[in-house]
Amino acid sequence: MRILVQKFGGTSLSSPQAREHVLSHIKRELALSYNLVVVVSAMGRKGDPYATDTLLDWAVQNGDSLPDREKDLLLCCGEIISAATLCSLLQNEGISSTVLTGAQAGFVTDDHFGSARILDVRPTRIIEEFKTHKVVIVTGFQGQSESGDFTTLGRGGSDTSATALGAVLHAEMVDIYTDVNGVLTADPRIVEDAKPLAYVSYAEICNMAYQGAKVIHPRAVEIAMQAQIPVRIRSTFSESEGTLVTHPEGFQDVQSGILDRYVTGIAYVSNVTQITVDCEDGMSNLQLKVFKSMAENSISVDFINVTPKGAVYTVFDHDSERAITALQDMGFKPSSLSGCAKVSVIGGGINGVPGIMARIVEALSEHHIQILQSADSNTTIWVLVKKEDMVQSMRALHTKFQLHR
Ligand code: ADP
Ligand code: MG
Repeated sequence: MRILVQKFGGTSLSSPQAREHVLSHIKRELALSYNLVVVVSAMGRKGDPYATDTLLDWAVQNGDSLPDREKDLLLCCGEIISAATLCSLLQNEGISSTVLTGAQAGFVTDDHFGSARILDVRPTRIIEEFKTHKVVIVTGFQGQSESGDFTTLGRGGSDTSATALGAVLHAEMVDIYTDVNGVLTADPRIVEDAKPLAYVSYAEICNMAYQGAKVIHPRAVEIAMQAQIPVRIRSTFSESEGTLVTHPEGFQDVQSGILDRYVTGIAYVSNVTQITVDCEDGMSNLQLKVFKSMAENSISVDFINVTPKGAVYTVFDHDSERAITALQDMGFKPSSLSGCAKVSVIGGGINGVPGIMARIVEALSEHHIQILQSADSNTTIWVLVKKEDMVQSMRALHTKFQLHR
């Protein structure tokens, strides 16, 4: 059985015109004799009737006291409505399909409502349904706990549903359909001349996704990478094949099989606060105490620089008050700068290439942008800037590394 997984994101399903495009992608692959697993997200974005954010707002409007378990139940409605809509459209075209919820499709998760982890995927029911249907529609983002409760997988969860199904069903490919032409060198909403990349390795896209490029969820890429299933990220609104994500050896039609670029793209995470804690005389174990207290308060920390004189790190803006209070309670006198953004230059080839940091500093200083902090690894260089400098930083770095070419 040749199985193809197609995942359609929120904007791909949000209007009758968009759904026409979805139908054409389904029909094209059916004509190639694939058995299709079609994973759907909730329709539209914030403000649209059945979008995930709209359902979340609904819970808030009702007093914001809905328990997490019941909130997941509410959120599951978005994907169910999408799936039923698509099933009707296929039926109208004479294409027989059936809808399975996350639970029916075999997703077993833990019971961390709102961000459940997948424990197992048992796709027996999907295989069974292929005896009578060529298309099995699966509601993305959902699972079921071992005690039988509906759970959701967290933001970007439908991407994870799609690659997990691709992995257990040994699909030929997982196609992630969205509103952009694949993975670009930067978010096209920020950098207008960002260029689509024909190929990226699992490692490159995973890294970009972890640094904020939300075109695909990093968990979804990790699962595809482990199972060695190729993924294509492509636009619902065009016939272009978008970006192929696989191992570098899979880049067959790249001349010589080598794709040697040192910078792949630029990504950002905004709304972070920089916290500085100085070590005063006689203070011992400052760093240990600081990071232990962040962990005890479940505050995730990032961009950590530790020196004998203290520690500087970032937390999300929404955690900053709690972080500062925890530090003050321990007798520290932290200072903080909220409204920062972390901009990342990502590429497998930057390791050891002389002068990259110099070019970053040059690009930013040409625009009088202050670097608040920086760090680097084998594959990424990060700079922290003020939020109001984020767009200009992204554009300046994109141009400096000639990513528009
Ligand atoms: P979907 O609802 O289809 O899952 P998302 O909004 O989650 O769509 O992801 C698509 C969006 O990701 C694009 O509209 C784009 O603004 C954003 N994006 C961020 N970084 C990148 C990038 N490097 N390449 C492509 N898109 C990106
Ligand atoms: Mg998405």
